[in-house]
Amino acid sequence: LVIPCWPIFTEKIKNIYLMCKEVRDGQCAQYIPQLARGDPEKFGVSICTVDGQKASWGDSKIPFCVQSVSKAFNYAIAASELGANFVHDYVGQEPSGRFFNEICLDPNGKPHNPMVNSGAIVVTSMIQPKLDTADRFEHVLTEYRKIAGGEYVGFNNATFLSERSSADRNHAIAYFLKENKCFPEGVASLTETLDFYFQLCSLEATCETMSVMAATLANGGVCPMTGERCIAPGACRDVLSLMYSCGMYDASGQFSFSVGLPAKSGVSGIMIVVVPNVMGIALWSPPLDKMGNSSRGVAFSKELVKQFNFHNYDCL
Ligand code: GLN
Repeated sequence: LVIPCWPIFTEKIKNIYLMCKEVRDGQCAQYIPQLARGDPEKFGVSICTVDGQKASWGDSKIPFCVQSVSKAFNYAIAASELGANFVHDYVGQEPSGRFFNEICLDPNGKPHNPMVNSGAIVVTSMIQPKLDTADRFEHVLTEYRKIAGGEYVGFNNATFLSERSSADRNHAIAYFLKENKCFPEGVASLTETLDFYFQLCSLEATCETMSVMAATLANGGVCPMTGERCIAPGACRDVLSLMYSCGMYDASGQFSFSVGLPAKSGVSGIMIVVVPNVMGIALWSPPLDKMGNSSRGVAFSKELVKQFNFHNYDCL
């Protein structure tokens, strides 16, 4: 067993959960009603180890939208299917140092990385571009369910419709990308690409789901619950590298400094944290800090590395 003393370990995690439940900072995302109406009291934590031990606390079975966490998995799927070289002909690996939805390109004329909107929109355009819209959506849903080992993955149509109708910035980004010839040959129209991007932001999951998905990343791309390889080994390494440097918006540098683990957050208040070769962690609580990351999720991560030597550079 990767964590031998499970009851002792989970007791400590439970105490961190109870401690962070008291955190009252932050505000739910306001840009669409589906998120603005989020309950600030909700807090769920799930963990799943690379050998399939699982535990959850709080609101771990309540569905939420994966939002920007989809960027990590969409990239992993694209890189698995197309190879990292192809993907990175169109998107870089550098933190942008700018807001996640800024209209800008790197010095090579590419989106900075797959974790900002511009990069994520380009990556989304690459996934199975020959299939029609319904089959493309189904394909990605099937891949998510594999990575989640059969845990719940759904779709929230209200969020999708809201995202689509408040998407001026994402349309501006998409036109800017098109103007600068950032898309590969033969991809769908901008409207179809954006719809697909919003649909993937609007996929629904629970903490239990996301902990298994994170555990698949912790396990090199093989789902610990099913033993199925879902993400190519190279793509798994690459997505973890990008999560480490770019996964937490403009707090990515602070997070890798203080927590030292690859993570990805989304505006719904979800955060996944990966302890490579050990476990995946899902933290969900809607109030966000000033950088757009879940306040309780960040507090939990900091307390976790205080109590355990999970920081990448703890074991020196
Ligand atoms: N769906 C929103 C957008 O693309 C926000 C994504 C996120 O979690 N930051 O703008």
